[in-house]
Amino acid sequence: MMDNIKLKPCPFCGGEPMYSVVNHGDGGIVYCTKCGICTTSALTDTPYTAYEAAAAAWNRRVPEKEEN
Ligand SMILES: [Zn+2]
Repeated sequence: MMDNIKLKPCPFCGGEPMYSVVNHGDGGIVYCTKCGICTTSALTDTPYTAYEAAAAAWNRRVPEKEEN
């Protein structure tokens, strides 16, 4: 279940975020496909936890807004 964490839209431009594996699968980043900002690389033991770490880092950047 690689994508059980939903990525929020970019906090700066509202663009769609993408996850990318880095460091030969030992890490991951989330970046915006529109403006190009990205999280710092999340380094973990497995791609699964790297995704979780990167997704969490991305989502922490997004200001909480009222959702409906
Ligand atoms: Zn953006």
